[in-house]
Amino acid sequence: MINLKKGVNWSPTIFLIIFQVALIIWLPFYFYYNRPTLSMVAASVVLLYATGLSITGGYHRFYSHRSYKTNFFLEWLLLFFGSMAGQGSALRWSYDHRLHHAFVDTDKDPYSIQKGFWYAHFLWIIEKPQPINPKVVSDLISNPVVVFQHRFYVFLFILTNSLVFLSLGWFLNDYTGALTFAVGVRLFCLYHSTWFINSLAHTWGDQPFSQEHSAVNNYIISFLTFGEGYHNYHHTYANDYRNGIYWYQFDPTKWLIWLLSKLGLAYHLRTTDKYTIKKRMVTEHAYLLREKLVKSWESKRIEWEPIINELSSNLVRKMTDFSQLKSRYRELKTQCTEAPLLKEIKKEMKALQKSLRQDWKKWWQLSKTIMSHA
Ligand SMILES: [Zn+2]
Ligand SMILES: [Zn+2]
Repeated sequence: MINLKKGVNWSPTIFLIIFQVALIIWLPFYFYYNRPTLSMVAASVVLLYATGLSITGGYHRFYSHRSYKTNFFLEWLLLFFGSMAGQGSALRWSYDHRLHHAFVDTDKDPYSIQKGFWYAHFLWIIEKPQPINPKVVSDLISNPVVVFQHRFYVFLFILTNSLVFLSLGWFLNDYTGALTFAVGVRLFCLYHSTWFINSLAHTWGDQPFSQEHSAVNNYIISFLTFGEGYHNYHHTYANDYRNGIYWYQFDPTKWLIWLLSKLGLAYHLRTTDKYTIKKRMVTEHAYLLREKLVKSWESKRIEWEPIINELSSNLVRKMTDFSQLKSRYRELKTQCTEAPLLKEIKKEMKALQKSLRQDWKKWWQLSKTIMSHA
């Protein structure tokens, strides 16, 4: 459902149509007469990651959510590759994205999934955007580097991509390959990768953290979007620098930020406390289990609903107690409190941990039984 009453966003619309149609027509001709060298493909993939991570780690997690801090040099680097990604200035991008989070799934959401999959994917770009309200991005407007990139965005987009085309074309002696792969195919993949976050990551997956919004978690989408597929988590705890909270979850943006912090180039990484996350997961899962009973196991509802309620509230309560004890222990330790008191708290923590383990076991057994019922 596009609303063109407000006007058409002509420049990006014309560019995106011509660019994609031209690329699709051009590629068969290219492959008929040429074959890309391995070096050209490798260079294009490296550039795809550099530009993609500048969007996810720069435009998104740094500028839109302020989930970490960095230095001037890295900011320039993020904006350089961000300009090469062709997705508008960091200021405009962050403005739209902040509105997306604040008004998700409503009319004020610039790429609301409620207006359809293709609208959220890219049709929203055709609509004339609303003017930037300085109050929403006051922190970015006071940043001269961001304002510079915003003012000269079109020039910077052309400049950075021309640099790639000319330097790679000269270095690998293949100007046609550089234009086709390092610019054309890379931009095409990058566009759809970012757009997938607004379309697929609001449609296809599960919701372990919150059902209050349409965002979903899906590890397959993470492979396509530089780690942004854990979108249900992201919409629930938007200021966390991670989207995939477990170490094994594919989130190269998180790994990059973490690596930068180890190199002293990023600091004040924001995370959500693990007990807050776990408690939320239990509450959401309890809701899902109750829903499942209503939908497909009504006969067991009277018997199992009180067990779900009791177990979930026990888990939440014990996790709260445990995290409080843990912080108290740390606090007392820094104050060099006497050993017997510390020992006593440690003993209490151990007992609580044991009881939590037993509750978790019961919880997953109950969950398995209920969820496996057809
Ligand atoms: Zn979203
Ligand atoms: Zn976000």
